[in-house]
Amino acid sequence: CGIFGAISTQSVTPSLLEGLNALSYRGYDSSGLVVGGETGLQLRRSEGKIDNLVKLLGNSPLDGGIGIAHTRWATHGDCSTRNAHPHMTADVAVVHNGIIENYQSLRAEMSAEGMTFESDTDSEVIPVMVSFYLAQGMAPQQALYQSLSRLEGSYAIAAIFSSQPDRLYAARKDSSLIIAQGQAGIMLASDVVALGNSAELICPLTDGQLAVIASEGVRLYQTTAQNTQIQIDNIPWQP
Ligand code: GLU
Repeated sequence: CGIFGAISTQSVTPSLLEGLNALSYRGYDSSGLVVGGETGLQLRRSEGKIDNLVKLLGNSPLDGGIGIAHTRWATHGDCSTRNAHPHMTADVAVVHNGIIENYQSLRAEMSAEGMTFESDTDSEVIPVMVSFYLAQGMAPQQALYQSLSRLEGSYAIAAIFSSQPDRLYAARKDSSLIIAQGQAGIMLASDVVALGNSAELICPLTDGQLAVIASEGVRLYQTTAQNTQIQIDNIPWQP
């Protein structure tokens, strides 16, 4: 239901929680985040109010300069901690807004390939497919692009790879997602309200684009009619 991501020179946990709170007006039943720091990618998820996630982080804090966060409005799989986002494999953490219409056939295909699932959500098929394609020898960006090309339905997603804990990947189809630059770093949000006053430049993603966001800057790729990807040289930043 709501996505917020951040890369900063400071700990991103406070801004992730702020973003989730700003997105909470849309409704949600659980929330969670992944933060990348010195100990790799760390996951915290909780049912119910964002306050529950805040309490969890009070007991087991997370610090790191990169993270993705999600408020979930369950469509597939009940409201529980294990169905809350992010969904994570050893390779990648993903948050997803929307519905993957063909998740049952993709899940069956991945299970037949020996891949395992830990939730009942449609969303988990994304990180599992990415792991599958990585195991086939694809590079992270290609594995993500390949996985997204298999999805039917609507999505806004953000992903962090364990092997590349310095960058966020983002893409969408029929669901909103916005990249923003601010004083504190780069942000990613499914709704402008989550950006508060801290955004100086924004770049709303369009369908078919894949963004690679790092502290040095943003790279944007567009899917062509031939179903390959080309890099967009001038990112259309807006004030
Ligand atoms: N379909 C996904 C799920 O049920 C995402 C729902 C959402 O957009 O919050 O977990």
